[in-house]
Amino acid sequence: MRHFPIYLDLAGRTVVVSGAGECAVAKLRLLLKTQADILVCGTAPDPTVVGWAAAGRLRLLPRRVEERDLPGAALLYAANAEAAEDARAAEMGHRAGVLTNIVDNLADSQFITPAIVDRDPVTIAIGTEGAAPVLARDIKRRIEEMLPASLGRLARVAQGFRPAVDHLPAGAVRRRFWGRFFFGAGPRALAEGGETGAQRLLQDLLAQAGGETPQGHVALIGAGPGDPELLTLKARRLLHEADVVIHDRLVGPGILELARREAEFIDVGKTGFGPSWRQDDINALIVERAGQGLKVARLKGGDPAVFGRVEEEIDACAAAGIGWEVVPGITAASAASAALGRSLTRRGRNKDVRLLTGHDMAGFAEQDWRSLARPGAVAGIYMGKRAAAFLRGRLMMHGAAEDTPVTVIENASRPDQRLIATRLIELPDALAGVEGPAVLMLGLAPRDAAALAAPVQKMKEVL
Ligand code: SAH
Repeated sequence: MRHFPIYLDLAGRTVVVSGAGECAVAKLRLLLKTQADILVCGTAPDPTVVGWAAAGRLRLLPRRVEERDLPGAALLYAANAEAAEDARAAEMGHRAGVLTNIVDNLADSQFITPAIVDRDPVTIAIGTEGAAPVLARDIKRRIEEMLPASLGRLARVAQGFRPAVDHLPAGAVRRRFWGRFFFGAGPRALAEGGETGAQRLLQDLLAQAGGETPQGHVALIGAGPGDPELLTLKARRLLHEADVVIHDRLVGPGILELARREAEFIDVGKTGFGPSWRQDDINALIVERAGQGLKVARLKGGDPAVFGRVEEEIDACAAAGIGWEVVPGITAASAASAALGRSLTRRGRNKDVRLLTGHDMAGFAEQDWRSLARPGAVAGIYMGKRAAAFLRGRLMMHGAAEDTPVTVIENASRPDQRLIATRLIELPDALAGVEGPAVLMLGLAPRDAAALAAPVQKMKEVL
């Protein structure tokens, strides 16, 4: 992020615009929305600018900008549409220590003006660091469509009401109060009763909220295999509402960003065989936070019900009388089958699919090897990297063919996803260098071998 977005208070500050022609008009339309004192310096002013000056909306000096115009100014726009004059103005701006923008000259500007969606006091700024103005415009259009025109009025009513809400406890109760207003009955109250109607609603909601003790809640949420787009809408909503986000190591930053920034984030990730939180401590943490009346989002990689110890956390909530819900997610094997272009079940090949773990509390996990060794058997093997030699030994001992296809999917659904197609006999070797989470798909080869990455091609040559 080279350009850092901030909102600048321009009330009573001077903004100088060098240039009064067409190029300046575009910037002025935007600047006139602010409370800045606008000074335009330019010969041959555009009639629109003259009109604004006559209406007292800005000051117009029909000459070039000069040093004495700049001290104390907050911003300078060089909008002469002429490189030499822009450079002269910018040079003066730099000397006076005024933040300077040269219109349509990203490289020489100290700040850039974003595309803006204006629902004042809600203002949404969209920037692409100059990389893709077309994209910025498209995003702006979509956001414009998304936000009702009444949003600004709603926010303004809310703004005036804020002091009255101060006596509500900060945090969950207040958030719920505002949530009910903005996303519940607020828009309708405004449409039907105008600003008085919206104010009346706020009073009613406040009276209700005053008598409430907040109820804690735990959502055990499947965060999916990594791609934030694979989250369910419900997961997104609960994540956004959460006061506390307790997550595993497998849950990446792209997903955590969907939570509110003020939420408390706690990483209870188990680093493979390294140090980890004990399950009992995680249970205690969840219960403790929810017991304080907070909304807890317990995020687990994949699906919480697949090797996720979700029942232990449910038991802890139930024992403490805390409300809970489970939100299913996309498990690693599903993401892996999508990456392979293969179905987990297929007529004439396999009538069942198994999800196995490579190891359990007692060490390498024993399975029904005989059925897994049958031709056509399909299984998603989780936590299988260290157990690979053991798995190969057990399967072959029970009659599996050496050339049974196995595909290793590392970092399924993430930008660094990698597929390694191999055969059972070579499985342990194929796993050398696999550092990320990986699921082993027994009995499945990728549909499209050409799509495999370079190291995988090498693997194929060995076969
Ligand atoms: N609840 C999770 C599984 C947790 S166990 C789920 O439903 O996916 C942890 C194991 O899941 C890892 O050792 C790995 O085998 C697998 N795994 C999780 N995320 C993965 C990913 N993005 N790509 C490949 N394997 C993954």
